[in-house]
Amino acid sequence: MPMYDNLLANVPTDLWIGGQWRKFSDGARFDVIDPATENKIASVASASVDDAKAAIDAAQDAFAGWAAKKPRERAEILRKAFEVIVRDAERFAKLITIENGKALSDSKGEVLYSAEFFRWNAEEAVRNIGQVYMAPASGARVVAQHKPAGVAVLVTPWNFPAAMATRKIGPALAAGCPVVLKPASETPLTMLALMPLLEEAGVPAGVVNVIPSRRSGPVVSAMLHDPRVRVVSFTGSTEVGRKLLHEAADNILKPAMELGGNAPFIVFDDADIDAAIEGAMIAKMRNMGEACTAANRFYVHEKVHGEFAKKLTDKMASLKMGNGLDDGVALGPLVNKEGRDKVIELVDDAVKRGAQVLTGGKKPEGPGFFYPATVLDNVPDGAKMLNEEIFGPVASIQTFTSEDEAIRRANDTEYGLVAYLYTKDLSRGMRVSEKLDFGMIGLNRGLVSDPAAPFGGTKQSGLGREGAHEGLLEFMETQYISVSW
Ligand code: NAD
Repeated sequence: MPMYDNLLANVPTDLWIGGQWRKFSDGARFDVIDPATENKIASVASASVDDAKAAIDAAQDAFAGWAAKKPRERAEILRKAFEVIVRDAERFAKLITIENGKALSDSKGEVLYSAEFFRWNAEEAVRNIGQVYMAPASGARVVAQHKPAGVAVLVTPWNFPAAMATRKIGPALAAGCPVVLKPASETPLTMLALMPLLEEAGVPAGVVNVIPSRRSGPVVSAMLHDPRVRVVSFTGSTEVGRKLLHEAADNILKPAMELGGNAPFIVFDDADIDAAIEGAMIAKMRNMGEACTAANRFYVHEKVHGEFAKKLTDKMASLKMGNGLDDGVALGPLVNKEGRDKVIELVDDAVKRGAQVLTGGKKPEGPGFFYPATVLDNVPDGAKMLNEEIFGPVASIQTFTSEDEAIRRANDTEYGLVAYLYTKDLSRGMRVSEKLDFGMIGLNRGLVSDPAAPFGGTKQSGLGREGAHEGLLEFMETQYISVSW
């Protein structure tokens, strides 16, 4: 009997609509798979277009009451949500590992990070600050204030089953907006399991609705074309984000798009190499490389290239791979077969073109979608992995000789989510950061995510920001009252 039967026995698998579990309207269900064993772990209701409509009905019904609550009341409910998640962190972490595969230490980090979006937004909910302007010609006062935009549709990926959703639910609720969330089909359980906790925290029925579905296209499309919906907040691939932006245009929705990345990680010759290795391990290996923020291209100055490549290889080779629930495991399986096949294809392509394998590079036998920590050196220009998200535990290294060359190559991508750089010279660090065309820069840091930071990208990496005060404003409309007094 799998070791996690007890944990799964109490996990809900139906749709959460209007504060109730609802099976489905047409009987469809889909399987959730443990990527470490390839065993089925649950069968989850698959929302239809009718269910999506019911969820929007419930959200719209809850809107006026939730928006009318005093900011302090909303804030206290959000604060309570933070507390109950932290209380149940262990259980949530295991659930994330079972459905996503990531090592338990990664999952614990994610649960605490995801809870922080409730604490941060509890604090933001009471800081809905407007402005008063004076019209220069008439002297009229222009009183500008922010109002909740309306029902928000949230669509999230599988790589952070908790955090990518709470990063949207937290600010939406703080702003006064009800939401309908469609989680990724690979990992629907974490959000379903969160719903009783939000209820315990005092979130009223209908304010948060969760509708997993294997029919994402029609279900999301129906919601985006419902005139009661005013916001769409999506995290996922650029390809799907572009499609949803087209759909959002039909109904002139407020879009927030957190899309793909292709992060460069630049190591200058004056960098603290040990610190750069530590940062590289986080930037590359958090979530086994399955992160939009994952370092995808290492550019290392030729003078420190040998030392950096050796130290990175030693660290990567020392990671224990296995079932993420087991003690000491740092590297779990990738989320599914398609994800692993993509990594295999990208590695094979780079090696065929002449890249050298310093460690890893070979798929292990046996069940589970495992792939080892891999370092590829001297990856030639033209290798596909330099242009596409690897989304796996593979570091690709190239060298550079001048600052200008590093900047030019780092910027040579259609993406603009995050870039990392290591140098002990702060003025170089700031100068180069400003020339990098990315929404976020990790300067001597391998981790940039934080509820207090306006997370988001430029170019094909997205529109809008999540976190900080900006994250709240994504769910608000500005209204001004021009008044003579
Ligand atoms: P995905 O785009 O395949 O799926 C994301 C979500 O969209 C899922 O819920 C999926 O079911 C849904 N979806 C898929 N097709 C759809 C359609 N036609 N209409 C409506 N919804 C649809 O992405 P993924 O594979 O789940 O996640 C990986 C991607 O997410 C990577 O590109 C990664 O970079 C990106 N990501 C970005 C951020 C960020 O903040 N920028 C964070 C995490 C992940």
